[in-house]
Amino acid sequence: MALLQISEPGQSLDPHQRRLAVGIDLGTTNSLVAALRHGVPECLPDAQGRVLLPSVVRYLDPSLGGPGREIGFAALAAQLQDPANTISSVKRLMGRTRAQVARVEKLPYRVLDLQDASMSAQPAAGMAVVQTVAGCKTPIEVSAEILAALRQRAEDSLGDDLFGAVITVPAYFDDAQRQATKDAAELAGLKVLRLINEPTAAAIAYGLDNGVEGIFAVYDLGGGTFDASILRLTRGVFEVMATGGDSALGGDDYDAALAAWVLAQQGLSAALTPTARAALQAEARRCKEALSSVDQADGSVLFGVDLDGHSVQQRVTPAQFEACTAALTERTMVSVRKVLRDAVLGKAQMQGVVLVGGATRMPQIRRTVCEFFGQAALTNLNPDEVVALGAAIQADALAGNSRRADSGDELLLLDVIPLSLGIEIMGGLVERIVPRNSTIPTALAQDFTTYQDGQTALTLHVLQGERDLVADCRSLARFVLRGIPPMAAGAARIRVTFTIDADGLLSVSAKEQGSGVQASIEVKPSYGLSDEQIAAMLKDSFVTAEQDMQARALIEARVDADRMIAATRSALAADADLLDPGEGEQIGHLIDALTQRQSSSDAAAIEAATESLAKGTEAFAAMRMNRSIRQALAGKKLEQI
Ligand code: ADP
Ligand code: MG
Repeated sequence: MALLQISEPGQSLDPHQRRLAVGIDLGTTNSLVAALRHGVPECLPDAQGRVLLPSVVRYLDPSLGGPGREIGFAALAAQLQDPANTISSVKRLMGRTRAQVARVEKLPYRVLDLQDASMSAQPAAGMAVVQTVAGCKTPIEVSAEILAALRQRAEDSLGDDLFGAVITVPAYFDDAQRQATKDAAELAGLKVLRLINEPTAAAIAYGLDNGVEGIFAVYDLGGGTFDASILRLTRGVFEVMATGGDSALGGDDYDAALAAWVLAQQGLSAALTPTARAALQAEARRCKEALSSVDQADGSVLFGVDLDGHSVQQRVTPAQFEACTAALTERTMVSVRKVLRDAVLGKAQMQGVVLVGGATRMPQIRRTVCEFFGQAALTNLNPDEVVALGAAIQADALAGNSRRADSGDELLLLDVIPLSLGIEIMGGLVERIVPRNSTIPTALAQDFTTYQDGQTALTLHVLQGERDLVADCRSLARFVLRGIPPMAAGAARIRVTFTIDADGLLSVSAKEQGSGVQASIEVKPSYGLSDEQIAAMLKDSFVTAEQDMQARALIEARVDADRMIAATRSALAADADLLDPGEGEQIGHLIDALTQRQSSSDAAAIEAATESLAKGTEAFAAMRMNRSIRQALAGKKLEQI
């Protein structure tokens, strides 16, 4: 497997030649930018000294003049007053269709698809766009606003133009979501040095890549998402062995659970005006965050809010908060156990555990994770900064300023793909070429052949998923290999190569080895899969594995039978004169018997009938062989042979 070498040893630049490169954590809730200063990664603050930038953009009515939009804290503050034009959690829309988003999300603004929206730049049909007072905006445009604000911040504090940026994405992001992230960066005028996975960035921030080897768990609880990943480090090479989580579980759910508990304590109903609901949520968040730093044994926080003129005052202890959110914490641990199973590892095999995401500041999370793994987690870096810090280290190395140059180490990075990739073969089956959780970048090839005599073109259908039948997998792309020289069925050798680059983007090529004709396609699916869909596809594949194997056996038996019948018929057409009438009739019966069996759903019976036909034609095949040898030798003298 090809490993990716990011920096050559011994190539160190003069300090004044350093290229400015930053790491960006483009989060669902908060985004950050970090850079190396004097060899140490630091998050860059805004003019008020805040490093977090809420990932929120508010569009203003253009007829009013002015800047047209607000980004970050200003936008967040206006969310209640102007929910329809204030876009939060836009990361959830990246690379998704409206239909995908509608099923999972309840968002306070209007999400349309392109049929409804009139826009100047037309993205692919069906993609989600957001309707605002300033017109329809694609998620890429909204994300670009956030990235541009971070770029501006970096150029202001570093005092120069940026060479490029490393941007982090969830390990679960598929091709479409990664591509959308890259497009957003480009729109923001940023050169993307690389997209890297968030857990990998966190591990780099902790310097885990300086060790020789080990397996690490990364537990990332953000505002609205939970991700669990298992990383393996071997001789400085990082690999994401498995990744999973829950895209609808985060710190916001802890706020909601606390708010519901307070309402219940006060005997209040949950039916509130939007203003009261927003005030309740904001107070719940404040109270939750404050509870992280009070004395866990006998501290408490006052939950105080005015709900539509009704004053609510409720003292909350850490124990009460923990009890009303215990089910959420348990849900994260269910995902952790699943990811360990996926990686075929036990919790005792983890050499370290990294906590990522602002919500892991909650003491109950730290305790639960620690108890589960039987060791304290790494927490000395700020959990909401750690991803950006790791991205900054990576960006610096990619820009050629490697701080490792002196030690002679190479920095290597590997990630995994979440679902298997393959192509369609005869009978509607999928041949897997890149198995799920394969490390990237990678290139894997497999040889195929033609099915029909004289076949000069072949359609390649690229699929994603764990199931054996094409109908149960997701179609990514189709392309045609033309110009294959006419040959007998089975004689052409077509090598199909899947290449996945370091950003997780796939290209597929097919080459007929004899003639050298080739065709290829770059796969940029126009829409992505949600985590739920990936999870559902995996679950389906486990549940139905047995059924799939039977279906596959049946299809293979039918394809073999077809092939046998076709071969026998073409032999009869050429050399029937070699047979007695009785023999010919006998073979005809065997063909009929097999043809009849073929429509049954009993794979073993079809195989048996195919076998009978093969046996019944053995003598005929031998006679044909002799004839062709005689013909070849005809007219030649013994010494010529
Ligand atoms: P994302 O990765 O989704 O952008 P972050 O990692 O920034 O999100 O996490 C945001 C979440 O962290 C919010 O739910 C926020 O309330 C929570 N959070 C931040 N600080 C604390 C704290 N001190 N205690 C508990 N939760 C916190
Ligand atoms: Mg995050």
